[in-house]
Amino acid sequence: MIYEIFPKKISFNKINKYINKSRILKLINLICNKYNTDVAVNFSEKILRKGLYFSTKSGISISIEDAIIPKKKKKIILKGYKKIKNFKNKILNFPIIKKNKNININIWEKIDNKLEDLVLKVIYPKNSILNKINSIFFMLKSGARGSINQIKQLSGMRGLMIKANGNIIKNPITSNFREGLNMFQYFISTHGSRKGLSDTALKTANSGYLTRKLVDVSQDIVVREKDCGSNKGVVITNIIQDNEIIENIENRVFGRITSKKILDRKKKNIICKKNTIIDLNLFKIIKKEKIIKIEVRSPLKCKTYNGICSYCYGYDLSKRRLVSIGTTVGIIAAQSIGEPGTQLTMRTFHTGGIMSNIKTKLKSSIFCKYKGIVKFSKNLICVLKNKKIIVISKKSKIFILNSIKFILEEYELPLNCNLRVKNNSYIKSGKKLFSWNYSSNKIISKHSGIIKFKNFKKNKNYKKIINKITNEYVIIIKNKSIINYNKYIPKIKILYLNKNKLLYKKSTIKLNINNTILNVYNKQKISSGKTLAYIPKEKKSIKDIMGGLPRISELFEVIKPKNRSLISEIKGILKISKKVKNKIYITIKNKIEKRKYIINIKKKKLLFGNNEIINKGDFITSGNIYTPDILKNLGIKKLVFYIMNEIQNIYRTQGVKINDKHIEIILKQMLSKVEITKTKNFTYFKGEIENLNKILKINRKLILKKKKPIKYRNLLLGITKISLLKKSFMSSASFQETSKILTKASLFDKKDKLKGLKENIMIGKLLPAGTGNIINNYFKK
Ligand SMILES: [Zn+2]
Repeated sequence: MIYEIFPKKISFNKINKYINKSRILKLINLICNKYNTDVAVNFSEKILRKGLYFSTKSGISISIEDAIIPKKKKKIILKGYKKIKNFKNKILNFPIIKKNKNININIWEKIDNKLEDLVLKVIYPKNSILNKINSIFFMLKSGARGSINQIKQLSGMRGLMIKANGNIIKNPITSNFREGLNMFQYFISTHGSRKGLSDTALKTANSGYLTRKLVDVSQDIVVREKDCGSNKGVVITNIIQDNEIIENIENRVFGRITSKKILDRKKKNIICKKNTIIDLNLFKIIKKEKIIKIEVRSPLKCKTYNGICSYCYGYDLSKRRLVSIGTTVGIIAAQSIGEPGTQLTMRTFHTGGIMSNIKTKLKSSIFCKYKGIVKFSKNLICVLKNKKIIVISKKSKIFILNSIKFILEEYELPLNCNLRVKNNSYIKSGKKLFSWNYSSNKIISKHSGIIKFKNFKKNKNYKKIINKITNEYVIIIKNKSIINYNKYIPKIKILYLNKNKLLYKKSTIKLNINNTILNVYNKQKISSGKTLAYIPKEKKSIKDIMGGLPRISELFEVIKPKNRSLISEIKGILKISKKVKNKIYITIKNKIEKRKYIINIKKKKLLFGNNEIINKGDFITSGNIYTPDILKNLGIKKLVFYIMNEIQNIYRTQGVKINDKHIEIILKQMLSKVEITKTKNFTYFKGEIENLNKILKINRKLILKKKKPIKYRNLLLGITKISLLKKSFMSSASFQETSKILTKASLFDKKDKLKGLKENIMIGKLLPAGTGNIINNYFKK
């Protein structure tokens, strides 16, 4: 059917596949690349007609019978209740764990996931005939409506709910929509839906406001010339999270221009030269060669005055060719970021307050993709435990090499994971490399020897509790005072008796986490691989994970967070000097400098111990990161990397893809102001704020005249502030604080050169943008 309307010359094999929403998108993409846009428009038009015709003819509908409840459901839920009851009996004597609701939540999460799989199996049995396909499944699989989460609610269980304050209610809703809810369950679920309704009513306005702010800050960025001659760029790599590539490098660099030549992995042959556009051909080569690092031109490094050049921008994303002069890329960027913002607020409404976004994997394993030889990094330490190889070293890695020793794959081994392969062994693709359990947090001993306790003070830093089932004493670490104060941290020493019957220290383990449960007693003999202690899992609550629109707005506005994390300004050794009530005084010292800080330990946690080496830019305490801190101590590169990642992460969780260059354009504006720190030129004073581009221009002239250039400091300002500081008072006044700006403009006798788009709209002139002749006239005047 689709082949009929397909442009000729494309082979039938490309279409002879299962076609759903994403596949159709791919087909349109394919046509776009092969033919001009006219053909693609024609095809889309035809496919729309076909779709409408057949969907009317088929008359797909669903009934309550289609939501099939898995037969095993009752059993699974009973099992869950049993598990919790068992657990409660078991921990009756541990008052600390009893408080911990997470155990309940973990168990229900597991059951929830299990049911989800079951539901899928029930509505789509393996050998079902085409005309008997379940309509609900039909809608899901084609990508037309609904997600698996919604179907789970129809015929599985609704699952755990979230209270209005963001905490999780520990009793889940075990019934589904087909069975109906009882009074209690209905009451709980109203929390979520009410929140969803009020959110959509109140928060859509916020996302609209964000778009307006973004447009105002970037409206005057227009492509002004072809090449600004900048030879700097930004480095782009794969984005890796939890050992998985979530965004490929080739997708990220597609349509951009290289700022350096690209070499292949052997570093012998040149793939492409400087200033070449990464088109489809190059895209395929990069994918094939598995290049991991590419430097491309970026709006951030563009030298064009009052705008941007087409080389630094790259492809026009709607046309797939180099952007033409006169395109209003600033407004495109603002709209591309602002538009999906509405989706970010709607999410609570759609899921109806159901806990689904923090679905944690409880067990996970990594399989290798290519065949090759296994190599471990040198810092790997393993122990044997119940015939399993357990990794106990931090940050060790595993590599898969091919026959000429190129690294094909690279993974970081998580702590306590179970290693399934041997060093230097040859493996086939698809082999399990290692697996680990998220729920277990243990300290495992590297050595065998005798245990010795140190710094243990009864009822001060530990408690003894009898476990009634085993009748044994269990020690729980209780550290009410400062956690990092070295003197008081209880430690376990592992000693070893050598031939001369002398005791040697083998290793010391600090127990600096509250509620750690010990699994060993003093003077016990142990063998390597013994579990020494259990560390409690950190509490999870959606409240702390501030995501969505507020976070994006916070990043663009550069708001000082309430609980600001302390950043180290120098490299040096940390010393804890004294403690007064809730405050500790620390100093960071190196040979030249010394810095003093006071930390309120009631609000923040010290992340480093006494005598630890600290690098410049390390965050010393817990808390929220204030982005100008990164700029000041780590530089622009790290700052761009951080903000880019934060914003992309938020959008990614909603399945929204935004091209990096849109964010880069906004960042370019946020970084466009500098503060002058030292000057001999009398046109500027110390502390004055000026445009970066203007200062660079003046400095170039000064250097030519062999005079000292003006020294300055980069600033990161919020988008509102930047909009108000605009050169054009008309565009600023039309944004916010109108009367203040207008009085200022009249007092200082300001002139508006009418260079931006907004000013020209206001007075009814033609825009200095667009791909026609207008731009040429703009420069002539
Ligand atoms: Zn440029």
